[in-house]
Amino acid sequence: MKVSILGSTGSVGQNTVKVLQAQDVTYDVRVLTAHSNYERLAEQAIALDAKAVALVNEAHEDALKDLLKETNIEIFIGEAGLAKAAQMPADWFMAAITGMAGLNPLMHAIAQGAKVAIANKEPLVSAGRLVLEAAEQSGATLLPVDSEHNAVFQVYEAANHKAIERIILTASGGPFWNKSLQDLEVVTVKDALNHPNWSMGNKISIDSATMMNKALEVIEAHYLFNMPANQIDVVVHPQSVVHSMIEYSDGSILAQMGASDMCTPITNALGYPKRLNTPGQKLDLKQMKRLDFEDVDNEKFPAIKLAYECIEQGEGACIALNGANEVAVSAFLNHKIAFLDIYKIVLKAVQNRPSADIQTMADVISYDKSLRKLAESYIVSKPVVKTATH
Ligand code: NDP
Ligand code: MG
Repeated sequence: MKVSILGSTGSVGQNTVKVLQAQDVTYDVRVLTAHSNYERLAEQAIALDAKAVALVNEAHEDALKDLLKETNIEIFIGEAGLAKAAQMPADWFMAAITGMAGLNPLMHAIAQGAKVAIANKEPLVSAGRLVLEAAEQSGATLLPVDSEHNAVFQVYEAANHKAIERIILTASGGPFWNKSLQDLEVVTVKDALNHPNWSMGNKISIDSATMMNKALEVIEAHYLFNMPANQIDVVVHPQSVVHSMIEYSDGSILAQMGASDMCTPITNALGYPKRLNTPGQKLDLKQMKRLDFEDVDNEKFPAIKLAYECIEQGEGACIALNGANEVAVSAFLNHKIAFLDIYKIVLKAVQNRPSADIQTMADVISYDKSLRKLAESYIVSKPVVKTATH
């Protein structure tokens, strides 16, 4: 099978490499891509005998070429290079770029009618309807990799769609679940990156701390499983053992459980519909003393409630939520704003967004751009210098 990994140097990307290497068969690796990490990209490409690599950041072109000079690996550079790489034929793609930067390569992968494993949730939040329509048209199979959505996918009975009463997404609560609102005013970037159960890239780690990650996931579930907002619930489950559930009309709640290790959903998506072996951790049920489920604290973590409102308000609101969040998270990671400002900026952008008529992908892209500008204006015009020093 021909496979390509978009965003191979990231957290999900590296786990995907590990999963591929752990299988008995040797995959025909076509393309690996990165933004700037040319050293890891070259290392992965050599280890997997990849046909090509794409590096977005042109500043490292020469250094990458130097590392690969003894090989026949083809090198694509820049945004255009990334797009070309995603158009190289493959049977299975992992979409693991972070943020809306992954949208264009994702659409190229989908256009091939391939199996497309999607970790990259932001394009689903902003353009879910269009992404699913494109898959329908090309015959691509979308395989959810976000652990909650992979769990739902595993217990989803298409023939019983009408009998689904609720999708129940679990949330770990993130690193600040037990902190007070007052504590949250002074948390640092380092505190926010320190997730109790999962090891992930920076952007999603901050999203987990604000619980915006779960907000994005509610919208992601809405599109992936064609489920109205009022049939999607979130419960806080600090152990991160039950990855999500579906409640059916007969009262059965089907859950998928496993260790907090992305190798499981990635292995599931690689093997689908077969089951392969994970190189990751396995869950030892006897070590689990208890499984807790609690309500979300909407006062401390208002993002989830906002996601429900955005679904009701339509695609423009979801694009605003996602775009403003990407801008605000980046500002927080760069120590320009305090932790609680992330949500304030997102809320303000959602509330003040211009009206939108979203028909095509071009509409999504241009609206997303304008919303980012709006969100950025809130950062520049009102800098917040609190204690977010590190
Ligand atoms: P990382 O930040 O660890 O990795 C992101 C990858 O995308 C890297 O390969 C990075 O390259 C590349 N990249 C970053 N920016 C760009 C850009 N502008 N253009 C092209 N490539 C780019 O992210 P994660 O692996 O944590 O997450 C990836 C996606 O999966 C996100 O959407 C996230 O929400 C989702 N996800 C992640 C989970 C996890 O466990 N990490 C769990 C569930 C979902 P470089 O290394 O050179 O910067
Ligand atoms: Mg998740």
